[in-house]
Amino acid sequence: MTVTPDDIRAAASRIAGHVARTPLIRDDALSDRLGHPVWLKCEHRQTTGAFKLRGATNAILSLDPARLARGVVTASTGNHGRAVAHAARALGVSATVCLSRLVPDNKVQAIRDLGAAVRITGDSQDEAMIAVACAVAEEGLTEIPPFDHPEVVAGQGTIGLEIGTPDVVLVPLSGGGLAAGIAVAVKALSPATRVIGLTMENGAAMAASLKAGRPVEVPEVASLADSLGGGIGLANRVTFPLCRDLLDEVILLTEAEIAEGIRHLGHAGHVVEGAAATGHAALLAGKVRPQGSAVTILSGGNIDPALHARVMAGASEAA
Ligand SMILES: *Cc1c(COP(=O)(O)O)cnc(C)c1O
Repeated sequence: MTVTPDDIRAAASRIAGHVARTPLIRDDALSDRLGHPVWLKCEHRQTTGAFKLRGATNAILSLDPARLARGVVTASTGNHGRAVAHAARALGVSATVCLSRLVPDNKVQAIRDLGAAVRITGDSQDEAMIAVACAVAEEGLTEIPPFDHPEVVAGQGTIGLEIGTPDVVLVPLSGGGLAAGIAVAVKALSPATRVIGLTMENGAAMAASLKAGRPVEVPEVASLADSLGGGIGLANRVTFPLCRDLLDEVILLTEAEIAEGIRHLGHAGHVVEGAAATGHAALLAGKVRPQGSAVTILSGGNIDPALHARVMAGASEAA
């Protein structure tokens, strides 16, 4: 089970008109400093505030009419859940989000506001995942997984068709849907372009898995890059092999480096979450040295405003 450049081109025509084509903006300050042009791919300006709408929309539009009629389900409370709820509503499909009792009321309300049916069960994300499995088995709902799914990867990969053929592309890396999709698209257009995955030092499951040569679990730790937390799934089928085969490098960033990235982008008028600042974190820290133009993927802008203000004022802790 893999994803080809043709799958990504098909995804691009499927989702056109349903997702925004985000701007590619030159970062003048960083370009001057590095002596090479640095471009920002502004997915923090995507509808729902993150690129995940691309994969969710492509996955839902790929379902057959019988499945569409029964509806979709997910357990994510983050950017993926938001994307699934938004895409489902826009396409007239019913969406269910399974949550644990620990999810705060404001988050539950935000998901309801997107038109999704909310089911609250159990005291952990694991129990919410079990509720998803039940909804799939007993009610015929279709799960839209956050990354390990060919149509989700193909949807995220459409970004790779919109960024030209730079020397290097810097991609935030968690489950690897974004990085795998972009790598498939970009390497087909420009085999010499380097695709580098970026993640936090602590709790980076894909980095640990690539090192081990197989999917492994790592303990989850609080990070400014909260969207990069979580495992890759021990039964990973799609994103682990693609990341292993296509990523040129994976670079780990400290919290202080990620905070610097958030501040640099904040001063340029881009409010981004920690995950989206990892490319800048790597460039500013000298951990990536472009030999030509660079593109960083600003993957999302859904940061708590109070946290953003604290980081802008100099903090580098998540909590
Ligand atoms: C999900 C997410 C990522 C990581 O994407 P994967 O496909 O899981 O690697 C990066 N940034 C943001 C803002 C995200 O929501």
